[in-house]
Amino acid sequence: MASGLTHEQAEALVQSHDPEHPANLICDLCRDFYKLGWVTGTGGGISIRKGEHVYLAPSGVQKERIKPEHIFVLPFAQSSLPKPGSQRDFLRIPSKEGLKESACTPLFWNAFTMRNAGACIHTHSQHAVMLTLLLPREADSFKISHQEMIKGVRLGGVGKTLRFFDTLEVPIIENTADEEDLTEGMAAAMEKFPDAPAILVRRHGVYVWGNTWEQAKTQAECLDYLFEIAVKMLLAKLPLVGDN
Ligand SMILES: [Zn+2]
Repeated sequence: MASGLTHEQAEALVQSHDPEHPANLICDLCRDFYKLGWVTGTGGGISIRKGEHVYLAPSGVQKERIKPEHIFVLPFAQSSLPKPGSQRDFLRIPSKEGLKESACTPLFWNAFTMRNAGACIHTHSQHAVMLTLLLPREADSFKISHQEMIKGVRLGGVGKTLRFFDTLEVPIIENTADEEDLTEGMAAAMEKFPDAPAILVRRHGVYVWGNTWEQAKTQAECLDYLFEIAVKMLLAKLPLVGDN
């Protein structure tokens, strides 16, 4: 555990009447994402980094029923980079028994450290999964062009928005038995594809990030739209790149 904070100070980290406070936002957004089919069956979620604090939902819980008191708060400056199975530094751990920080923690950290992201969303959207099944097995990325919704996606997830005539490319990595074991594969793909705004995981879902939670959410929505239409285009045998 951690952290030099008194119990009251630690609890105050997740108590706010401001609906835009990360501890409130994570609960609201998880409820919205649940309704979209993005985080059903306890999978998926969102983490928000605000200044030196990172807010995380617990792992393996009903994502539409999370309350602010269930939220973990971690210092962004960890004594060691979160890795699969590693010990983490906490500022606040929920008192409810059996809660563990999200299994996505080291993957969210990839977005925070490698892209300086302010938020990262992980979905198990069927559109993302189906797309990875329809693309050739050897494909290490998904490419699409000439779609209006490309304009809602940013270079590297945090830079300028793409233009209509740009081609969007999202790397695809192979799934692993445990969520945390995706950490290295995700980092390698982010290095190889510095302009990519997200990472698709075959037979699993997608990780999307942004400068802020709003930008991460906008991009997750645009990408999900593009994954869905790409699935339909592939089934209709239409090319994903080009305007013919
Ligand atoms: Zn997952």
